[in-house]
Amino acid sequence: MDKGSKIYVAGHRGLVGSAILRKLRAEGYTNLVTRTRQELDLRDQAAVNRFFEEERPEYVFLAAAKVGGILANSTYPADFIRDNLLIQTHVIDAAYRYGVKKLLFLGSSCIYPKYAPQPLKEGYLLTGPLEPTNEPYAVAKIAGIKMCQAYRRQYGFNAISLMPTNLYGPGDNFDLTTSHVLPALIRKFHEAKEEGRKEVVVWGTGTPRREFLHVDDLADAALFLMEHYESEEIINVGVGEDISIRELAELIARIVGFEGEIVYDTTKPDGTPRKLLDTSRLFALGWRPKIPLEEGIRQTYRWFLEHRAEVR
Ligand code: GDP
Repeated sequence: MDKGSKIYVAGHRGLVGSAILRKLRAEGYTNLVTRTRQELDLRDQAAVNRFFEEERPEYVFLAAAKVGGILANSTYPADFIRDNLLIQTHVIDAAYRYGVKKLLFLGSSCIYPKYAPQPLKEGYLLTGPLEPTNEPYAVAKIAGIKMCQAYRRQYGFNAISLMPTNLYGPGDNFDLTTSHVLPALIRKFHEAKEEGRKEVVVWGTGTPRREFLHVDDLADAALFLMEHYESEEIINVGVGEDISIRELAELIARIVGFEGEIVYDTTKPDGTPRKLLDTSRLFALGWRPKIPLEEGIRQTYRWFLEHRAEVR
């Protein structure tokens, strides 16, 4: 990628796409193409083809996806499988047809089997049954990976697939019904503190373990891999350590300054017991994350406070 290469960031209003766009701008890339959802519905194949025909981007970061937390995934399984299959199929196919030099597809750590050994190595893909709460989403993401691999094999199309762990950061979704755990807890603890409530309810048992990567680190890894990675093998992007939901809740309570009690609602699902990525493939290339979890949460909390009016 040259600083003047034409680069399309699909999904630039989302958590991941907006971070990639910030990073590209900060690195001095000037020829960046974006479309809002209103301007281009990626579920509309004809519209996607027209867009590629007109714009002819050279590089594509495919960060457009329908994403959500454990509740959204179990409430809207049809939307998750349909929208993701449509978006990724249309963008990958058009990118190939209209001569894109390289495409980076973003998967997810939920593509790995529920009971796979930890940490999760790339080779564990399709070795066992998935976590049921987000299976439709995971199946769509697996289809995207296989499509990238198949297009490389059959057509020589240069597509790579990254599997990020759970992401968080500025621009996150703070809506309690659709968000992931980290932004949900920032909001819950903040509002409880503000309203002087004595109790915050955390879903599940608190024992599941998750790994959290700041989205600016993910964006950094995405640019790094766009430059340095050329393989049909998927590659994990994580920090290499995880914490329990209980530890996360206590950390966020401390950062926010909530001093009441944390209550666990065990009628809510835990989801997969553990989801820690093996990042040795990525770390062997020399990349490392830079933002420690506590610092990242503090910064995300500040962002939440500054954007209170417009957060979802
Ligand atoms: P997952 O990583 O796909 O399971 O998605 P989430 O980030 O939504 O959930 C991670 C874990 O956090 C699950 O065990 C949830 O039950 C738990 N959790 C605890 N409190 C909350 C909450 O308020 N919102 C969400 N989304 N998850 C919560």
